[in-house]
Amino acid sequence: MGELRFNPVTRTWAIISPERGQHRYAYVTKDKLAEVPCPFCDKNGGINTKLRSIYTINLPESSSPALIVTPNRYPAMGIEGVLVREDHGMYDSISAIGAHEVIIDSFRHNVDIAGYTEDELNNLYTAFRDRIADLEKDVRFRYVAAFKKVGFGAGEVINHPHAQIIAMPIVPDKVRNYMHDVVSYYKKKERCMYCDIIKQEKHDKVRIIFENYEFIAFAPYASSYPFEISIYPKNHESCFSTISEGSIRQLADITKEMFSRLAQVLGNPALTLTLRLAPYVNNRPDFNDEYRYFRQAFHYHIDIRPVVANLTGSNWAANICINPVSPEDAAKHLREVNQV
Ligand SMILES: [Zn+2]
Ligand SMILES: [Zn+2]
Repeated sequence: MGELRFNPVTRTWAIISPERGQHRYAYVTKDKLAEVPCPFCDKNGGINTKLRSIYTINLPESSSPALIVTPNRYPAMGIEGVLVREDHGMYDSISAIGAHEVIIDSFRHNVDIAGYTEDELNNLYTAFRDRIADLEKDVRFRYVAAFKKVGFGAGEVINHPHAQIIAMPIVPDKVRNYMHDVVSYYKKKERCMYCDIIKQEKHDKVRIIFENYEFIAFAPYASSYPFEISIYPKNHESCFSTISEGSIRQLADITKEMFSRLAQVLGNPALTLTLRLAPYVNNRPDFNDEYRYFRQAFHYHIDIRPVVANLTGSNWAANICINPVSPEDAAKHLREVNQV
């Protein structure tokens, strides 16, 4: 079993996971990918029913699955065991106890963003909501990451559509920092920063791409990457694990809209979709003043980052991204594209 190690220089946690390296796709190149049989497909078509299912949504009026959630066979963290916090001289580690789940969200192999249906996205968000709510009951977990990569360019090695959920016993430093910032904003102004961003975007108008009844999609003012998109619920909502079926349907609608616009403008790019959540607040020994404000200060949201070849000026060494496409231009292209 791997462990979480803390880097005192960068003040970040890393998961050191030798199990992940044994993954048979770990070092596979794109050319070799086609030769590997898909672990998620059944030979009769559909999702491989031999996979252990933690959670299933069936196709309408059918006993065949439209989506299943299965434990990752090569988990970055394991669900069994006792949480051990240790020091090794000046260094700190925690046993890598967590849940690493794979959501197979389509029975169709090899679907790109243009091919996703609203029903598939609806199932994906339903599974995110229900699994996040279930994992919250385990008091060892402090944070859950939920994300989906589409396409080899996004670092995905299995072509079959899937998403991942990782529940972990720590709050990543990046999350801790932005929670600190949004709580400070709230304490100072007694307003949610994200609600204020929506107000500002509605006033400026130039970065908004699309709105439906409950959600708004826009290119963030200081986008680090070209054609980056954020989707916010228009009414203040901090918690994703309790959202209604109606809200999920609206979220699937706006996501489908963004997928098809990105596909048209950028020629069906690979992308990463991330659900941004606050840390779990249940049974926290370090329950401090900041956690009391999470519900008022934090607003869950979705970030979509397409992989735009040759345009991504991410500069790891300089610690800053260079984005050659202004968010105003990106929004204009995505707003004006002809819809099919
Ligand atoms: Zn497949
Ligand atoms: Zn808000």
